[in-house]
Amino acid sequence: MQLTGKVAIVTGAGSGIGKATALLFAAQGAKVGTIDHTPKEGQATIDEINQQGGEGISTIADVSQPDQVQSAIDKIAQQFGKIDIVFANAGINGVWAPIDQLEPEEWDKTINTNLKGTFLTVKYAVPYLKQQGGSIIVTASVNGTRIFSNTGSTAYSCTKAAQVAFTKLIAVELAKHKIRANVVCPGKIETNIENSSQHRNLESIREPVEFPEGMISLTDGAPGSAEQVAQLVAFLASDASSHITGTEVWIDGAESLIKG
Ligand code: NAD
Repeated sequence: MQLTGKVAIVTGAGSGIGKATALLFAAQGAKVGTIDHTPKEGQATIDEINQQGGEGISTIADVSQPDQVQSAIDKIAQQFGKIDIVFANAGINGVWAPIDQLEPEEWDKTINTNLKGTFLTVKYAVPYLKQQGGSIIVTASVNGTRIFSNTGSTAYSCTKAAQVAFTKLIAVELAKHKIRANVVCPGKIETNIENSSQHRNLESIREPVEFPEGMISLTDGAPGSAEQVAQLVAFLASDASSHITGTEVWIDGAESLIKG
């Protein structure tokens, strides 16, 4: 198993891409510490890991809150003795609205969850990663990196663009510590992300562009799955990707090349 002996942290592990990745990490031999702000869902992921013969602990933290993130990461490190892999994945769609109707507190919530949350997760894990080296993977999106036609997603897309810059900067900074950092950019993936979405008056700002039916030829128009993203993340977490750092990988069946 390619992650045997590794300890991994996964944020947003109660659902979707984070959950699928936590399960795959464990199936590949890693010990997994989950971080989510929903205790029930985070624990359910650990219960599944235990059922499949793996080992993990669930911690509760809002990734936008420094004290909560630090204590969750310290708890996981204490439990398993080290941290090798960090998957900074927790995120929300937040409010998508015309720019003059987007409230400052709505902007802050998206930025604080997606971008500050990534910063805090990495910041508090890096002292542990530095002890033996490791791998950081961040979840960005096609939005803000290749697709700019989803008008109204300004706050969300800005966080995703910034996560790419963040990852490249830390890849350079941390290379001397044998820590790699990469960012995955999913297209449409079947998860619960729409539960964190609020759309307001988008019709008024959308360009009248129509895409043909079944535009993602690779999947006959269907979205990707969280498990497909998890396979990519597990590869980037493993030593099989030992010379890959500072890069984004789009995982969208070419959706963003058509829609961008
Ligand atoms: P999801 O809603 O299924 O899962 C998100 C998880 O993050 C949930 O468990 C949720 O409880 C957790 N979370 C949200 N806010 C949090 C906070 N403040 N603190 C701690 N945990 C928090 O969605 P998903 O699609 O699996 O999303 C994961 C990541 O993938 C996000 O960063 C999202 O932007 C990105 N993404 C998703 C898609 C897609 O189509 N699903 C596409 C591109 C990028």
